[in-house]
Amino acid sequence: MKFEVITIFPELIDDYKKISIVARAIKKRLLQIKAFNLRDYTFDAHKTVDGRPYGGGAGMVLKADVLTRAIQGVLKKTTKKKEKTKVILLTPAGKVFSQTEAKKLAKNDRLIFISGRYEGFDERVSSLVDAEYSIGDYVLMGGELAALVMIETIARFVSGVVGKEESIQGESFSKDGKTSNLLEYPQYTRPEVLKIGKKTLRVPKVLLSGDHQKIKIWRADQALKKTKKVRPDLINKQW
Ligand code: SAM
Repeated sequence: MKFEVITIFPELIDDYKKISIVARAIKKRLLQIKAFNLRDYTFDAHKTVDGRPYGGGAGMVLKADVLTRAIQGVLKKTTKKKEKTKVILLTPAGKVFSQTEAKKLAKNDRLIFISGRYEGFDERVSSLVDAEYSIGDYVLMGGELAALVMIETIARFVSGVVGKEESIQGESFSKDGKTSNLLEYPQYTRPEVLKIGKKTLRVPKVLLSGDHQKIKIWRADQALKKTKKVRPDLINKQW
């Protein structure tokens, strides 16, 4: 799957590509991640990407003409003719990204993310994109981290990227019939007994029993209890 990011800070995306699972997936040609510098699509010698907002106000706004040129330029750069492509604008005003959205977006061959900076975009850019996403109700300095959050989440649904397929089944927020949108059950590893000051913390006995049926029931019960306790809003939530 191909991820492309239009940004004024391509180095943020390029550095991310060098690490861990993503780097391995790129090497195996399961993923492609490429950053395009918005300044390469400007019209003047100063490589101007922003302008003052009409009507006044603080800060600068990314220019619609430069963004149009960049989107059209990047769209043209393709090796395959029939790539299922979506152009995505990153904005706090977009649809809130979720695990369900990630799974849907993973059905595309190519996603192009438009990353904002400063006060955001000229509103007319909206008419050039297929979708608008926010990664949550807070304001970042730029869209690069939002793009990377989305890329990393979507990439986990690309076959072969995460080592074992079962690693992504039954995870928090998944709706795969088993856990149905709950948080994941609690996990433990060695040591079996952990002493912290006067406290002794033990691994639940059922996990040491070797009885897989009992463990399965315990995990389902714990997932439900944990979700009810910390995220009751998730139960029966319609995404
Ligand atoms: N003035 C804008 C507002 O109040 O909505 C915020 C602009 S923000 C400082 C600059 C850029 O960061 C945005 O254009 C967007 O691309 C990105 N950004 C900030 N918060 C985001 C979020 N929650 N989700 C996705 N992108 C975000």
